[in-house]
Amino acid sequence: MKIIKSKFFSSYPLIIIAALIWLIIVLISYKRNIQEIDNYVFNLALNEARTNFERDVIYRRWVTLEGGVYVPVSEYTQPNPYLNVPNRDVQTTNGQKLTLVNPAYMTRMVYDLGLKDQRVKGHITSLNPIRPANKADVWESKALNLFEDGIKEFYEIDTANGLNTFRYMAPFVTEKACLKCHAEQGYKEGDIRGGISISVPFENYTASAAGQKNGELIYHLILGLVGLTVLLIFNKYSDELKTKQILYESLKKEKELNELKSRFITTASHEFRTPLTIIQSYTELMLLQVPENNKEKFKKYTSVILNSVSSMTGMIEELLMASRAEEKKITFNPEPIDLFKFLNDFLERSILDKNKNHNIELNYLCETKIFNLDPKHLNTIFLNLISNAQKYASAENSIRLTVKCDSKNLHLTVEDNGIGIPGKDIPFVFERFHRAANSGSIQGTGLGLSIVKYLVELHNGDVSVESELNKGSVFKIRIPLDRNVV
Ligand code: ATP
Ligand code: MG
Repeated sequence: MKIIKSKFFSSYPLIIIAALIWLIIVLISYKRNIQEIDNYVFNLALNEARTNFERDVIYRRWVTLEGGVYVPVSEYTQPNPYLNVPNRDVQTTNGQKLTLVNPAYMTRMVYDLGLKDQRVKGHITSLNPIRPANKADVWESKALNLFEDGIKEFYEIDTANGLNTFRYMAPFVTEKACLKCHAEQGYKEGDIRGGISISVPFENYTASAAGQKNGELIYHLILGLVGLTVLLIFNKYSDELKTKQILYESLKKEKELNELKSRFITTASHEFRTPLTIIQSYTELMLLQVPENNKEKFKKYTSVILNSVSSMTGMIEELLMASRAEEKKITFNPEPIDLFKFLNDFLERSILDKNKNHNIELNYLCETKIFNLDPKHLNTIFLNLISNAQKYASAENSIRLTVKCDSKNLHLTVEDNGIGIPGKDIPFVFERFHRAANSGSIQGTGLGLSIVKYLVELHNGDVSVESELNKGSVFKIRIPLDRNVV
């Protein structure tokens, strides 16, 4: 039986498509998670910047509401040259000099203090500053211009100077209290006067994000590999299932064909048997009334008819037997038999080829005589082996049938000095319908030895052959004694 794996069933393209889809899903999930981590750290930095901004605004508002605060003049706090208000510098009754610190001055001094050791830096700025040093840088100018257009806050990661800095800026809106100092510049209540920009170093956030991103990478690599492994296992399993399915279908088909063949052989054999029996019976009746004038010819013709009928009947019997053996429908009914007597009877009542008067020698070399064997099958075995020896050897040669026993086995051999079997045919002679190359015009179907093998195996034994071309053949049967000796 040949199993052809159909291209249709080959699941390689499917598995590759499934693997690609899986890898794309894993990649999309990885990209999304990375994006979420980036968004998360961005929002953390934004919150930090906003919190700083709001804190600064609230301090400034307090100072603004108070109209500024007087602080002692010191090396650190000198009178603000940009503050042009009355009573900027005052003196206490005990001579202590005080100077007025306005919100912008306070914010700048606080930021200057923080410049050295604070992580988050602030810068108070304006497009039109009273103090030139408060001038906006490029990024701040951009933000301030956007505020003029109505934008409430502006932030982004600034990579200028090779640093990753999260920059945030929101505007100052001129309040009534601011006009005390800024009315001079032309500001009205509600105008955007400037802003505070906050810079948060982004490296810390990037570093903590990097750890999470590595985790995501490992997780998605594992996820991808697990998916691919599951797909491969599934593919292998489904391939095996498909192969099993094909095998099952083929076996089913072969079984159906065999059943059909057996039914045909059985029906055909029965149909042949009836006319053959009629031919045989009428020929035998004719032999009872041999006409006087042509006696010899009549006998000759009728014997040709009877021989042909018997050979056809033999062939039909063999076909039926082979078919039943194939279907394992042959029963095994062993019974105690006297093997020596059985073989002598067999040779005497032998319906072997009477045209060939071979001498058949029986060498019975066992002490035991009773064996547990199936007599019907034993009969068929010897009928086939001895008829072969007769067919494939000339009548001058004798045939030797030997029976030997050892402690474990019964050995039966049938030996002839006939045409022998060519070496290349020897391994196949027990196969159905195999006939050796030198069998030529000798009649036969090639079924006999396959039946012998089957019947010997029913006895738990085995059969083999040794043969040399033009010298002869020895067929050896071994039957174990354990269950066959009585
Ligand atoms: P049948 O089915 O009628 O017995 P067959 O004799 O051709 O036909 P087998 O008995 O199965 O078939 O034998 C198979 C082949 O083995 C034979 O065709 C023959 O070539 C070879 N063979 C069997 N016995 C002998 C023998 N004793 N000497 C030489 N060749 C043999
Ligand atoms: Mg034969």
